[in-house]
Amino acid sequence: MNYYIITGASRGIGQALTRKLIVPGNTLFAVSRTLNEDLIELASSLNVPLFYFEADLSIREEAENFIKSVFTKIKLAEFDRIALINNAGMLEPVSPIKSIDFALAEKHLHLNLLTPMILSSVFLTETAGLDIPKVILNISSGASFNAYSGWSVYCSSKAGLDMFTQVAGLEQNAELQPTKVFALAPGIIETGMQELIRTTDESLFPERDKFIRLYEEGKLSNPEDIAYIILNTIFNYDIVTGSVVTIDQLKEIMYTLGFPKM
Ligand code: NDP
Repeated sequence: MNYYIITGASRGIGQALTRKLIVPGNTLFAVSRTLNEDLIELASSLNVPLFYFEADLSIREEAENFIKSVFTKIKLAEFDRIALINNAGMLEPVSPIKSIDFALAEKHLHLNLLTPMILSSVFLTETAGLDIPKVILNISSGASFNAYSGWSVYCSSKAGLDMFTQVAGLEQNAELQPTKVFALAPGIIETGMQELIRTTDESLFPERDKFIRLYEEGKLSNPEDIAYIILNTIFNYDIVTGSVVTIDQLKEIMYTLGFPKM
């Protein structure tokens, strides 16, 4: 049995990942604030176990309760491989630093940075010593290494996620049965988050028009393609523990495995 834990499964990249994982042989744990009824129905029609949790992962207790509940349902003796995909994320607050809503910034930092740490910590503890493929994938962003005016909170949370990934990777490299931990900058993908970027007031986000242009020129990837690339490479040995990779690097790995060019 393959186990996958996916955060932010209701929409966007998380929904695409979860939908593709609804195949026999997988057991899925999905979480978001709102249930995705289509995914639940699809899993039920194909007899694939999907445990869908409704939780607000910007609240520490809810994140802790979620991941602890997941491990009460996993039969450790039975699994062939396991992955935690820390995908849930938010962009807001978008604003110059002098006028940031810090209550929102606090929720953001919990969701984008602290929650992946909490989930990873419990995952690593629960799976320690198991000699099977184990992966933690943190969905990061190009904004972790490119500064954008108005995105101080988002750029910082994603830069923090990258550094967390590197430190967790160092620690795992010292383990006898390490978990592969890596972060991914997935490119620019047509999801609700991009819609939000395009409709943000330009006075808050001066680079808005660049994203509108990319959209109008058809340069955005679709979430299904990104999910396809991730799921075909996530357990691949060429991905170095502790690394931060781009979607193009994952594509290259896929091509070396013989997949057709996209
Ligand atoms: P979406 O906004 O489309 O989806 C975000 C997902 O996160 C939803 O399922 C949402 O579910 C969930 N979520 C948001 N807040 C919470 C919360 N408080 N508790 C639990 N779940 C929550 O975003 P994308 O699919 O675009 O983004 C997914 C990841 O990819 C994010 O980490 C993002 O930063 C990253 N990324 C996206 C890019 C893009 O171009 N789209 C580019 C680079 C990185 P619900 O609202 O039901 O809770």
